[in-house]
Amino acid sequence: MSTISDIAALDVGRVVAAIESVLPPGPGKLALHEPVFAGREAEYLKECLDTGWVSSGGPFVDRFEAMLRETTGAAHAVAVMNGTAALHVCLLLADVQPGDEVIIPTLTFVATSNAVAYCGATPHFADSEARTLGLDAAKLDAYLRDAARLEGGGCVNRRSGAPIRAVVPMHVFGHPVDLEALADVCARWKLALIEDAAESLGATCRGRHTGNAGLVSALSFNGNKVATTGGGGAVLTNDAQLGRRARHLTTTARQPHRWSFLHEEVGYNYRMPNLNAALGCAQLEQLPGFLAAKRALVLKYAEALRGVPGVSLFQEQPWARSSYWLNALLLEQPDAAARDRILEATNARGILTRPVWTLMHRLPHLAACPRMDLAVAEALDARIVNLPSSPVLRRFHG
Ligand SMILES: *Cc1c(COP(=O)(O)O)cnc(C)c1O
Repeated sequence: MSTISDIAALDVGRVVAAIESVLPPGPGKLALHEPVFAGREAEYLKECLDTGWVSSGGPFVDRFEAMLRETTGAAHAVAVMNGTAALHVCLLLADVQPGDEVIIPTLTFVATSNAVAYCGATPHFADSEARTLGLDAAKLDAYLRDAARLEGGGCVNRRSGAPIRAVVPMHVFGHPVDLEALADVCARWKLALIEDAAESLGATCRGRHTGNAGLVSALSFNGNKVATTGGGGAVLTNDAQLGRRARHLTTTARQPHRWSFLHEEVGYNYRMPNLNAALGCAQLEQLPGFLAAKRALVLKYAEALRGVPGVSLFQEQPWARSSYWLNALLLEQPDAAARDRILEATNARGILTRPVWTLMHRLPHLAACPRMDLAVAEALDARIVNLPSSPVLRRFHG
């Protein structure tokens, strides 16, 4: 048991020294996550320029989607411009309507919440569990028993009267949520399960790649993610009809025809350009190496922090294999002041550590959204410091 005096005694100098012992020495800064371009990126990009295939569609888009299917095991992959667009399309595919509510964790990046708002729906915030950092299925189930009812084959919020359409768990820092438990809750409450798998490329839950448990899921290939296309994302699904619909909606909902421009509904110009997919193909070829390098770094951090009182490195569950997108230093006890001292000391030394995203329910424009008790997420917010996690750690100047 830790006591208040243990917390006061948290030796920030020792924590920083342990972190620093893992990192390359020298002047310059260390970013949180940087891409590595050590494969055929330049060759593939040049091929785009040489062939003129630079925009939406093209051979690298097809190849990238095939590589995604192979990597994730999903039957269908549709490459789009970014992860937020992928989430937006996922919610549309789940038939999220204006006025609906969508359950998302308060501990997530704002993109999850933004995508819900793009549909005219309201985010409804759920708490996290400390063992995965992700949405707590048991707590959600208990909450819904009190706050919701089943009506006409769907779930309705007793207080607002609004339909609750879907649940969007997020695999925080690449650590899979307990998808089995969550799928049970979704089945019981007639909720669509949509995974925000933006951070979990390469992560598996009970042997299955994340992004396969629900109706549809979203990946991101932003520059700071496990693998990058510059900007990019993808919609994954195992449902052929939803796969076709994802492709249709993201290509301006244009009816296939040799020359006519026929559209029967509002569509989106969300498809990934061939240039970005070329980068993505070269990146996915290196994915096993990226994941192995990240895993080796985890062990180094964990070893360095072993024996440092009051802190540890967050690690995966026995049934999960994390992508370890971002490493998380975990304070044993919530202590925002100690967290901030660690952030201050590391950033002053050029180690660009970060706290978690501001919890969604604390953002001013989302403060009035419905929510359950969020005590665990609030505690985690005061316990986490993200550490440099690139597959190759390099100091940079500037
Ligand atoms: C990165 C990320 C996204 C998508 O971000 P884009 O920058 O739009 O690709 C969505 N959700 C989470 C949790 C993310 O970390």
